[in-house]
Amino acid sequence: MRAASLLTGTALLAATAACGSGAAESAGGTGGAGGGRPEVTAALYPLQWLAERVGGGDVTVIGLAEPGVEPHDLELTPAQVAGLEKTSLVAYVKGVQPAVDEAVEQHAADRGFDAATLVKTLAAEEHAEEGHAEEDHAEEEHGHGASDVSYDPHLWLDPSRFATVATRLGEKLAAADPARAADYRERAAKAAADLTALDGELAQGLADCASRSIVTGHEAFGYLADRYKLKQVGISVDPDAEPSPARLAEVAEIAKREKVTTIFTETLVSPKVAEVLAQEVGATTAVLDPIESRPADGDYLSAMRQNLTTLKKALSCS
Ligand SMILES: [Zn+2]
Repeated sequence: MRAASLLTGTALLAATAACGSGAAESAGGTGGAGGGRPEVTAALYPLQWLAERVGGGDVTVIGLAEPGVEPHDLELTPAQVAGLEKTSLVAYVKGVQPAVDEAVEQHAADRGFDAATLVKTLAAEEHAEEGHAEEDHAEEEHGHGASDVSYDPHLWLDPSRFATVATRLGEKLAAADPARAADYRERAAKAAADLTALDGELAQGLADCASRSIVTGHEAFGYLADRYKLKQVGISVDPDAEPSPARLAEVAEIAKREKVTTIFTETLVSPKVAEVLAQEVGATTAVLDPIESRPADGDYLSAMRQNLTTLKKALSCS
């Protein structure tokens, strides 16, 4: 379905463009997509999942991110940018995908649904306390997001915050399509309840662990760490940047000091650096999914539960 969703998106855009004169007008309705159904453009997978849950069959959801591609690097095609001109709502997190941030500002400023404005954000992780070389650091900060946001944008990794986003999306869709307002609110409540249940599972599963330090490839897990009282030690801020030897040495030292047994790698980033580090400190590696792209199997909820299983094993939680 995912591989197909881009195709579907393209087809829809083409269809919308084709019926622009005449048919679409008479179909009328809620602004945006032809046929009167609201169209939600979701910039990254977690928001796409949420839009599908909350929208049900009443909205058309178009995903901008390609499955299996690191979303921070997303570039938009001219057709995707044109699509933003007529979509009903663009769900995104400002700071994740610079190309999206810019396109929303230019083409859909009045229809942006920026999840980062809906929850309490955390400050972006800085390595300053570890005495990082300034140039290195500036480069890393620039690489990640590059949208001049001072907060960590990976807020979907805290299900309690994401539940708030679900509720707000329900309200937004209810306002955009009043005829089906009750349905949006009902599905949003169900999604929020699922996220709250997941939050409870994570809190319980990670309550009692031998270790609370997680060494990760890129610093995507700040919200998870904040919510469940773990300590994130990121090898790199930017998923694409090679960490400096100095940073690697720092992380190795922290990992040894904190008796870290597992170095986490990511689904979409080369595990090479993490493997070298693991070898150096005598740890193993395991995959922790930042869910920046659609998981190979399952969905947001199952990927988070898989993360919980991985963390419990790595941190020896009882
Ligand atoms: Zn990221």
